[in-house]
Amino acid sequence: MPSVRTADLLIVNASELVTMAGRRKPRAREDLANVHAIAEGALAIRDGRIVACGRTPDILARFAQKKGKPLDAAGKTVIPGFVDPHTHLVFAGTRESELVMKLEGKSYMEILASGGGIQRTVRATRAASDRELLRGALGRLERMLLHGTTTVEGKSGYGLDLDTEMRMLIAMEMAAMRQPVDVVRTFLGAHAVPPEYQGRPDDYVDFLIRTALPEVVRLKLAEFCDVFCEEGVFTVAQSRRLLSAAKRMGLGLKLHADEIVRTRGAELAAEVGAVSADHLYRSSKEGLERMKEAGVIGVLLPGTSFSLMQRDYPDARMMVSMGLPLALATDLNPNCLTESMPFIIALACYKMKLTPSEALTAATINAACAIGRQDEIGSLEPGKKADIAVLDAPNHLHIPYHFGVNLVETVIKDGQVVVRNGARVAKV
Ligand SMILES: [Zn+2]
Repeated sequence: MPSVRTADLLIVNASELVTMAGRRKPRAREDLANVHAIAEGALAIRDGRIVACGRTPDILARFAQKKGKPLDAAGKTVIPGFVDPHTHLVFAGTRESELVMKLEGKSYMEILASGGGIQRTVRATRAASDRELLRGALGRLERMLLHGTTTVEGKSGYGLDLDTEMRMLIAMEMAAMRQPVDVVRTFLGAHAVPPEYQGRPDDYVDFLIRTALPEVVRLKLAEFCDVFCEEGVFTVAQSRRLLSAAKRMGLGLKLHADEIVRTRGAELAAEVGAVSADHLYRSSKEGLERMKEAGVIGVLLPGTSFSLMQRDYPDARMMVSMGLPLALATDLNPNCLTESMPFIIALACYKMKLTPSEALTAATINAACAIGRQDEIGSLEPGKKADIAVLDAPNHLHIPYHFGVNLVETVIKDGQVVVRNGARVAKV
């Protein structure tokens, strides 16, 4: 008889255990749809890590839970916790009145001219106290966790001055220490040209390179540097200058690319070796090809198109067929206010024609790759963190199929049950 090992927690009888097993690389083409599901699945967790996955009888023959009863997932789907690789999770103020303006047919430029848009959020964020920034971030992370997200990327970019940018990054660090969701930080000082530098974007880029970036790196406040490369914001040349400097200082690179106009941000992402280029709404086929060759992941943000009431969405089917690996993210921000990755998966299916399996891969292992965490999270395999969501659904197709409600019943983070019956487990 094989010896029985102990586990801190066993999850058993899952009608579907979606493992996403495979190479710790972004999945593309037909691999994107291969979720490696196990029927009647089970997994064993010890010391916050997954130690085994398989069929329930096999796992029960090999493992015994130290105390208490195993988590019975009969009739339910077990998936890796969602990874949200693009959020603007720290900000102050809200912009609900702009929804009404959008419904009245006002353009983004008109909203901006009336004192709204990103500059409104910049004013509110600069004026907010550290406490207010932290409280806002904690509320959003809580909702993310309840919707099954266990790791997020968070960007600065509503300060646009050194003090507020640093306060945003520190708020993320404090928030990460106070609740279970892991936060990977990105410096997005180049989110917009601040009012103090109006008409002088090159001077602002100089300030970012000479003053802000060195300070962010010295204090280890971020892992990635991002830029809003867009017509009327930062040109390809300015973005290249900033990203090249960030790379020399040891940061990973990301881009907001080709969201509104085809600026050739996709080509720049390939040229500078970014880990991801995000949005890609107007990218050229050639730019996407170059991204693929350079190993850049395309992060699609259908929530943004939805909140901007756009008719068209990025051509995800074309990207899949050309072999570009895709990830999905919420783009959580005051203009696209959702913490829900299941909602984003639904949009990806209904609006961009990704299959449920492709969308789930893009929201887990590929999303982990887009923030450099593929060795730790994004799939349920021995050695990886036990970051897991249990859904009240018989299979993962229900994530987009049963939309607009929260199917997440249990969330496990680092091996601990942190959400039970859809509610946060009180800290002991
Ligand atoms: Zn964004």
